[in-house]
Amino acid sequence: MLIAEDDPVSFLVLRKTLEGKGFVVDGAKNGLEALHAFRCGVHRVVISDWMMPELDGVDLCRQIRAIPEPYTYVILLTAKTQREDRAAAYEAGVDDFLNKPLDRDELFSRLKVAMRILAAEDDLLRQRRHLMDVAQRLEFANQNLAAASKRFEELFSGLPVSAFTFDDQGLLFEWNKRSEALFGISAAEILTRSVDDVFRTADGQGWLQGRYREVFAGKAISGVEWEFRRNEKEVFKLSSDLLPIHGPKGQITGGIAVNVDMTEQNSARRLIVSQMDTIRRIADELAEEKAKLEEANERLERLALTDGLTGLPNHRHFQEELDRACRRAEREGQPVSLLMLDVDFFKQFNDTFGHPAGDEVLRRVAAILADSVRGSDVPARYGGEEFAVVLPNTDGAAAEEVAERIRARVEAEPWAQRQVTVSIGASTQRGSRLSSKQAISEADEALYRSKKQGRNRVTHFDHPVSEKIRSAA
Ligand code: GH3
Ligand code: MG
Ligand code: MG
Repeated sequence: MLIAEDDPVSFLVLRKTLEGKGFVVDGAKNGLEALHAFRCGVHRVVISDWMMPELDGVDLCRQIRAIPEPYTYVILLTAKTQREDRAAAYEAGVDDFLNKPLDRDELFSRLKVAMRILAAEDDLLRQRRHLMDVAQRLEFANQNLAAASKRFEELFSGLPVSAFTFDDQGLLFEWNKRSEALFGISAAEILTRSVDDVFRTADGQGWLQGRYREVFAGKAISGVEWEFRRNEKEVFKLSSDLLPIHGPKGQITGGIAVNVDMTEQNSARRLIVSQMDTIRRIADELAEEKAKLEEANERLERLALTDGLTGLPNHRHFQEELDRACRRAEREGQPVSLLMLDVDFFKQFNDTFGHPAGDEVLRRVAAILADSVRGSDVPARYGGEEFAVVLPNTDGAAAEEVAERIRARVEAEPWAQRQVTVSIGASTQRGSRLSSKQAISEADEALYRSKKQGRNRVTHFDHPVSEKIRSAA
């Protein structure tokens, strides 16, 4: 922890208090000295006086924010109470404020918030690193796919015989140069069309009497003879080989047809046979790369947005949703509310009934949350045993009602081991410049008031006690 304070007496008091709690404390007499110390060491929390010569607390914070990782929690010591000042400080990245003269209880409660938020940030950082790892693997899969695709395309389009691919509905995909020449139809023209549509046979039976479907039962068909009517006068005889294309798990993902004009057949036949294996192998490889890519994409998407334990949006997703809700509330001139929930005495629950039982409680609380809010609200796992709900278009009174509904449902749930309760803090923002950070910090403070006043209750940041709601419940 780093303290920046130009008044020697305040500095000593603060240092003694913190060291008494076991924190390792560095000190600086002004903003510049603090910045230097910060750059030289590792400080997870910075407590800085607001007014200091040379570099004040807000500017110090701005400099600290230029260094992205790991996250540093910044608390400003202030005698100022005006909201506009605080808004500017929040914008510079300040996390919280402490009033001067210092109140020990207030200091410790703010530090408790700081520790929780730092733990959540560390969680986020771990997730981000994991995500980058997945993204790298995805990039690699992408390169493989591009290479396989290119090899396949080159080989396919350069084949000295007509070839095309199709799916189980008969839809055409690849169509090489020799097919364009043989059938007098360009690759662009066959897109989204089916074999039955492109190859109307003289007897109107559909292409090869639908025999192409047999390849989807795993069959290779060779030497099927048929007639193609190019126009009113020209009908010519063709011989086709049909082969299935396999995906990574052996499933059939498509078919290939190789076609020769009967008049060229004998010379072409040998060529087909020699090339067929390569075509097949490359087509299979392509399908495999595609499947891998799809899987990696899905994994990435899931990882990026969802919490694995509860299935709720994760911390990252929550931050995005809260920011989005703030921007929207600004545009539409509507209030936006935030709930922060924390399970009461959860450490004790884990210690008594075990971590898996604790996990089950978290899943259940998540389900109750999801079930208690509107479709436009966003419930999320904030981290550990903490949850958050973003409530767009919701004023303070409505937010308290939602919070109270959730609190009561958790309390009334028939819990397997013992009753579980949650404490909830709510905050509401309105105006033209909304800060999601302020919303979180206010809801957090309200949550701590709920805890302090005995837990299993709802507190709104703007109203110290919500008697009305509690007595109505
Ligand atoms: P309070 O009423 O003040 O909130 O007390 P508490 O015990 O809930 O608070 P504290 O923050 O000290 O403990 C939180 C506990 O939550 C500690 C940690 O082991 C547990 N926890 C955090 N994440 C998980 C999780 O994913 N699964 C389980 N089972 N427990 C978790
Ligand atoms: Mg907690
Ligand atoms: Mg708790």
